[in-house]
Amino acid sequence: MTMTTTAPYRAVLRCIQGCTGAHSLLEPIYRCPNCGDLLEVSHDLDALRDRSAGSWMRLFDERYKRTTWPYGSSVWGKKEWVCPGVDADNIVSMDEGGTNLFWAERFGRELGVSDLWVKLCGNSHTGSFKDLGMTVLVSLVRQMMRQGVAIRAVACASTGDTSASLAAYAAAGGIPAIVILPRGKVSTAQLVQPLSNGATVLALDTDFDGCMAIVKRLSTEEGIYLANSMNSIRLEGQKTVGIEIVQQFDWEVPDVIIIPGGNLGNVSALGAGFDMMEALGVTARRPRIVVAQAAAANPLYRAYRNDWRFEPIKAATTQASAIQIGNPVSIEKAIRTLRRYDGIVEQATEDELADASARADRTGMYNCPHTGVALAVLAKLRARGEIASTERVVVISTANGLKFTDFKLDYHRAAADLRPRLANLPVELPDDYDSVLRAVARATGSS
Ligand SMILES: *Cc1c(COP(=O)(O)O)cnc(C)c1O
Ligand SMILES: [Zn+2]
Repeated sequence: MTMTTTAPYRAVLRCIQGCTGAHSLLEPIYRCPNCGDLLEVSHDLDALRDRSAGSWMRLFDERYKRTTWPYGSSVWGKKEWVCPGVDADNIVSMDEGGTNLFWAERFGRELGVSDLWVKLCGNSHTGSFKDLGMTVLVSLVRQMMRQGVAIRAVACASTGDTSASLAAYAAAGGIPAIVILPRGKVSTAQLVQPLSNGATVLALDTDFDGCMAIVKRLSTEEGIYLANSMNSIRLEGQKTVGIEIVQQFDWEVPDVIIIPGGNLGNVSALGAGFDMMEALGVTARRPRIVVAQAAAANPLYRAYRNDWRFEPIKAATTQASAIQIGNPVSIEKAIRTLRRYDGIVEQATEDELADASARADRTGMYNCPHTGVALAVLAKLRARGEIASTERVVVISTANGLKFTDFKLDYHRAAADLRPRLANLPVELPDDYDSVLRAVARATGSS
């Protein structure tokens, strides 16, 4: 087995508007110095063509879920395509990716989608798919610090999952972390995670967009390294989700992929992964990409309905807190991706997302609210015939339901304005056999 590769693979940061100039991944830079727009990582594809598509697929398969450092992580197993310049001993990895992709047979049958799959990205180190990108970012920071770049700490604004992931990876790498959260707007589990990992947690009286404005300023003025997805380095790790899905299908491309979207870095990353597979001959066709948004925070949906003309909005409160974003930083990248991938954007109301999540839970899943948005959107698109009954559909489940106990409890207790159709609460009984027997009879319909 040849685990390591020797060719001088290279990746640099370039402006998404095509301004000239390239920047090292080891430079703390987040925007084009010429026009101020976002940067993106650009790989030297010609160098990567020194291996055939088949040889890349074999290499990635050989490394998948094994233990040769750092390739057992499904992100670092694709290191040459992700971040070739980082030294193996600077990598901070806790075995990312390799998450289960399962056939959702019963739920799919209920919706009339016989080939429905769920990619459970929430089964990861900190319980969300943010780990895929954070391992790359924190590894690069460690390399920069060891090379003498002055970085006081890493920081992010977060709706919950980014801060949990940043705090964990920074702690593993021995790097100070600062997370800035909107006070009272993240779940208890998401607040406890960065606290436990020893991050400095600043809870501000504002929303995500307000936290973002502050962290951006810190990162330009104070030697604080920005870990938000405006920093496109994270997207290089996030893009492996699409590559891994294709790998898990023995290198076959599914017809449709549905992903919940907030700041829209992830849909852009999904597209970037497919672009790279196509460019290197691993795939010959493209999936359709669907972004699912909460109706309360739907700026991309509005743009989709308006010829891709985008206007930022003030996001209203949604149970899908990780996608409660009114002014997504990666809007342009996302629109570009959706145009290339025959994209669809659909939305789900609070009742729709909660019911879809609960309905799927009844078939054995345990969904976070964002996955609920994606499942509700799937049901709508199927009902309208925009997804055919025989198409292979993958829903990207972005976080672990266990992080969202309040969301689940509120649903089953019919809290707030919810009108749950599948509420299920404990039956409280005395220590008495006959009472139990009557309850069992009611439950099994034989009373
Ligand atoms: C971050 C996140 C999203 C959205 O990803 P974006 O790149 O911001 O669009 C969706 N679901 C969960 C659970 C997340 O943490
Ligand atoms: Zn530029």
